[in-house]
Amino acid sequence: MSSEELEVWIDQELCTGDGICAQYAPNVFELDIDGLAYVKGEDDELRQAPGAAVPVPLTVLSDVVDSAKECPGECIHVRRLKDRVEVYGPDAAS
Ligand code: SF4
Repeated sequence: MSSEELEVWIDQELCTGDGICAQYAPNVFELDIDGLAYVKGEDDELRQAPGAAVPVPLTVLSDVVDSAKECPGECIHVRRLKDRVEVYGPDAAS
C-alpha cells in the first residue's frame, strides 16, 4: 500500500460491541454508551451519522487495518479517499 490517503467507517448495524477496534486503535475507534463502536476524528469527537468516515492517520494505519481484519462483525471499512474503493474490509477485492 502506498501512502495514498485512506478513510475508515463502521457499519454499526453489524457491530457486536466487543471493542477490539478500540483496543487496537483507540485514537480512531471508540465505543459509545450505546455499546457500539464509532470512528472519531482528530478533534476526538465521535462521528455518529450512518456511514460517517474519518481519515486514517498513517501513524495508525496498521492498527486500523488489523482492526478491519479482526473485526468479528466484519463491519470496519477502509477505502481510498480519491475513488472510495474499499481496500481493507469485507468489501475489499482481496
Ligand atoms: S471490532 Fe468491529 S464488531 Fe468489534 S466493536 Fe469494533 S467495529 Fe464493532
